Amino acid sequence: MGLFGVKKDSQSEKRSEHSINSVELDQLFSILVINSNHDIVYVNEQFTADFGYQSSALENQSINKIIAKDLHQEFETDFWNKSIVHKFSGSIEVQKKSKKFVVCRLKVAQKENGHYWLLFDTPKKDDETYSNLKESMDLHLELINSSPDIICFKDGAGRWLLANQADLELFHLVGVDYLGKTDRDLADFTHDIYKESFLNCMATDENCWNQKSLSRSDEYIKKLDGSSIIFDVIKIPIFKEDGSRKNLIVLGRDVTARRKAESELVNAMKKAEESDKLKSNFLATMSHELRTPLNAVIGFSDLIFDEEDINEIHDYSRIINNNSKVLLNLIEDIFDVSLIESDQIEIANTEFDLIRSMKEVYEIFPVELNKLGKHNIDFKIILPLDSYMFKGDEFRLKQIITNLLRNALKFTKEGFIHLKLAVFDHYLDISVEDSGIGISEDMKLKIFESFRQVEEGYTRSFNGAGLGLAISKKLAIMMQGNMMVESQLGKGSTFTLRIFLDKKN
Ligand code: ADP
Repeated sequence: MGLFGVKKDSQSEKRSEHSINSVELDQLFSILVINSNHDIVYVNEQFTADFGYQSSALENQSINKIIAKDLHQEFETDFWNKSIVHKFSGSIEVQKKSKKFVVCRLKVAQKENGHYWLLFDTPKKDDETYSNLKESMDLHLELINSSPDIICFKDGAGRWLLANQADLELFHLVGVDYLGKTDRDLADFTHDIYKESFLNCMATDENCWNQKSLSRSDEYIKKLDGSSIIFDVIKIPIFKEDGSRKNLIVLGRDVTARRKAESELVNAMKKAEESDKLKSNFLATMSHELRTPLNAVIGFSDLIFDEEDINEIHDYSRIINNNSKVLLNLIEDIFDVSLIESDQIEIANTEFDLIRSMKEVYEIFPVELNKLGKHNIDFKIILPLDSYMFKGDEFRLKQIITNLLRNALKFTKEGFIHLKLAVFDHYLDISVEDSGIGISEDMKLKIFESFRQVEEGYTRSFNGAGLGLAISKKLAIMMQGNMMVESQLGKGSTFTLRIFLDKKN
């Protein structure tokens, strides 16, 4: 049907009123003509073809009937007045007869006899625009989806509007219709393990809204296999002009490996600092431990030259001898450490009577107690058997017990020191129990490391290089055993050497 009086029907006269002198216009555009009340008075064929309405269905109806009013609130009645005056040209949505809305370009083209010409781009052209738009949208989505980082857009109420593949995969939400759902809702659509992450996420969203600016934090997400991953999460709040919440953009990157590397670096740095500190402590301790007996040796050997009294000379040579032994012990300890460190110690496996051996060690100590004037110590050996044949390294076993008893003696002023043996089915315990100064909880493990002492540095009140326990523990392990300590500060300690018995022996 032509607009320009081509079709001769009852309305043709009326239509000819609105005719314009361009036939092409009629073919190029869908055209409506409205009167000053905004009622449709004319519908061209192209409009019927494009939008599906017969002219009889629209004529005398208000133009607002086919415009998506709720989508374009500015389309008040007033709009048409303004559009007409200003010769509006722009995009609007028109509802087709099929109820589908299509975006069209509208041009208010001409005013004639109090009537207005509304020229719409045909939906075909709009479809093209639409498909261009869709193509560009698809491109954006592809871009967002190809990101290995998680991307999520939420509205002001925390409802998901768009989430990329990485985000959906992370929370096992692929295939879930997430649109319009909040984190709390979505927690019900995936494994329970993610519930906590969703709740945390809601809390950090809220913080971000309150903070009114970009926020960044590490978020921990538990995975199905029980491990945890760390995400560096950036949240960007967007507000409407009136200050109310509009959108929240959430971006997150898996930084688990990075954080692990960072913490390894920090630990390595701490270790390096600690080892520096240990080295200085070791040098301080060693120079003290070497200098004290050496000074005694040099000092008393100097005195001997001028001394004529034979008794004095005997005393001096005894002191020189004792201090030389201390020096030798220290050197032997250092030698043992280096042998252990370089895996050069061999553990013997010969049969001996453990009871006899323990008694031999025990018997040296009453003399030492006397020498130190520690008469208030109840020093006992408690053995369950008269003899016990054992296969192992007698020399190293004696070395460990001697070391434990020496420490007990050094750190106990009064009370008791007990050397005990307890034999069980699969292992035996040799323990040294004392009522000495005790060891704090945090030092209990450290004292088994080389050169570690409860008191470190120049201001120590007890002698020793901090090697005895490290050597003893390593020897114990080489003997298929272990060494443990129980202690209470101020009350005393019990060091136990446990050796597992090989029934084949
Ligand atoms: P050293 O006795 O030469 O310092 P050790 O390795 O034998 O070296 O002991 C390390 C540290 O453990 C000691 O310096 C001391 O601080 C603590 N220690 C060892 N035995 C005892 C004990 N029986 N009571 C209290 N502290 C002890």
